[in-house]
Amino acid sequence: MSTIFSKIASGEIPSYKVAGDECCYAFLDINPIAKGHTLVIPRKEVDYLFDLDEKTLSNLWLFAQKTAKAIQAAVPCVRVGVAVLGLEVPHAHIHLIPLNSEADVDFKKPKLELTPSEFDAIAKAIGEKWGKV
Ligand code: 5GP
Repeated sequence: MSTIFSKIASGEIPSYKVAGDECCYAFLDINPIAKGHTLVIPRKEVDYLFDLDEKTLSNLWLFAQKTAKAIQAAVPCVRVGVAVLGLEVPHAHIHLIPLNSEADVDFKKPKLELTPSEFDAIAKAIGEKWGKV
């Protein structure tokens, strides 16, 4: 059975795509805690990040590095923070969150409500920087 994130990576379920390659896929979190909050996932379906095989795990972190650089270039922030939760969706993923202060990485605060055109614009801005920084 496919996870929701597998369906997103295959295009079966729509997402605000940031970037993708043969191994990994990046898209905006639908309930962002900051503008530019992005999820990076392996296409391979494994629940827990640290159960990934070495090759997929290293590919995913390198893909996350490129994505974080693109976020930093597209979204004003001091740094891009990283979080691994996996409490909701059983498909390994890394949260990349633009940070200006510690408070920006609080998953309990109310989520941002962005319009589809705002999501589109952010995904496009990050996607345009992807692989160029
Ligand atoms: P976690 O599993 O890391 O605890 O949380 C899953 C994250 O995935 C949450 O931040 C949630 O907003 C996000 N998420 C869950 N379902 C979807 C979805 O269908 N599309 C997108 N873009 N994000 C999702």
